[in-house]
Amino acid sequence: MFFVSLLLCCVLSRGVYGDASASSQENEDFLVAPKYLNNGEIRSLFARLQEEYPHLARAYSIGKSLQKRDLNVLALSAPGEDASAGDLLRPVVKVTANIHGDETLGRQMIVYLAQYLVKNYENVGEIQQLLNTTEIHLLPSCNPDGFAAAKEGNCESLPHYIGRTNAAGVDLNRDFPDRLDSQQQIQQKSLNRQPETAAIIEWVLNKPFVLSANFHGGAVVASYPYDNSLAHHECCEDSLTPDDRVFKLMAHTYANNHPIMRKGNNCNDTFTDGVTNGAHWYELNGGMQDFNYAFSNCFELTIELSCCKYPPAKTLPGEWQRNKQSLLQLLKLAHIGVKGVVKDVNGYPIHDATIVVSGLEEKPIRTTRRGEYWRLLTPGIYNIQALAFGYQASAPQQIHVTNDKNVAQRLDFTLSPIETNYDGISSFYSPYFFRH
Ligand SMILES: [Zn+2]
Repeated sequence: MFFVSLLLCCVLSRGVYGDASASSQENEDFLVAPKYLNNGEIRSLFARLQEEYPHLARAYSIGKSLQKRDLNVLALSAPGEDASAGDLLRPVVKVTANIHGDETLGRQMIVYLAQYLVKNYENVGEIQQLLNTTEIHLLPSCNPDGFAAAKEGNCESLPHYIGRTNAAGVDLNRDFPDRLDSQQQIQQKSLNRQPETAAIIEWVLNKPFVLSANFHGGAVVASYPYDNSLAHHECCEDSLTPDDRVFKLMAHTYANNHPIMRKGNNCNDTFTDGVTNGAHWYELNGGMQDFNYAFSNCFELTIELSCCKYPPAKTLPGEWQRNKQSLLQLLKLAHIGVKGVVKDVNGYPIHDATIVVSGLEEKPIRTTRRGEYWRLLTPGIYNIQALAFGYQASAPQQIHVTNDKNVAQRLDFTLSPIETNYDGISSFYSPYFFRH
């Protein structure tokens, strides 16, 4: 058995897809006897990986589906060479899939990615470097009830979208707060929000994710925000974020490393270089991708992996080889741009400070409880400023971003408080302020 799996791993690793960086040293024994794991099996696998690789893996659940299935996550990270440095300024990324329960390929790709990363950490320098510097959270299924209702081999959705939706028949990728909704609409929506969506919203708002991919099926393309547009046209018009250059870099990185996607002519569609703006393809409101960008610091792509939504399990090893490099190269992009810590003059971190980049003022980034920020940027010269309530704005700092070797440049800020009276209260808010 061992010999068979070793042989299989080597044959696959050499790759019929021209993957030059793969090495026969890689362990890919998880590709033997390919099958889709059900939710219980994913839960057991993640628990086992945590047990076998306690220094790398931690399993947890972000909540339960309507039918009480866990939304299973595996978090991966390594202490790194200098463990005493801790994980300050280590970017946090996520990969999610299966929000449409009958689009299954991405779900199993994430299950493979989890095993690939822990099993090869010791032997593959590239993986070691990634886990030593990055915290990766993997959520294979955002809609486990939908998956349970879907049928392997079905390339299109079942009648009434059974399997695509959750158990209540709701399309979860239309159930998020939308950047164009009024506050009233957001509140209204929240009254009927599905448990899966609510769990993901809380997760996104509480973890300082900087980069994300969410996998779908039914096409082969990397799609970047926005998915909605002010004009609400059905298609064919770009609706771009202020960070379009970063998003295009992310989308092209995934597509260019994918031997089929980059051709852009799959499933009777045509996408130049295998990428598209979401709204240009077709408009949608309440999607997860736009929610990530508009309501958090996280830059998320929607990636469609296969023409057939639920392809037969025998195709899984080949699909893994197609997507492996794309995944690794995309995750490394968490290290582009600038990162740093915002502190006060006593050295204490400032939570919820705002980092503003000239030319990208529409998308401020907020600091974590430890005062950390990560600002993904493409190469260029930028002026960056830190602002925080009760503090004087920092002077703009000019920085030349090169993204050499995908290492973020460090730029820290120290903020002075706004002048205070003897009570230590900001003079602006002091009752005495108005007397003088
Ligand atoms: Zn989908």
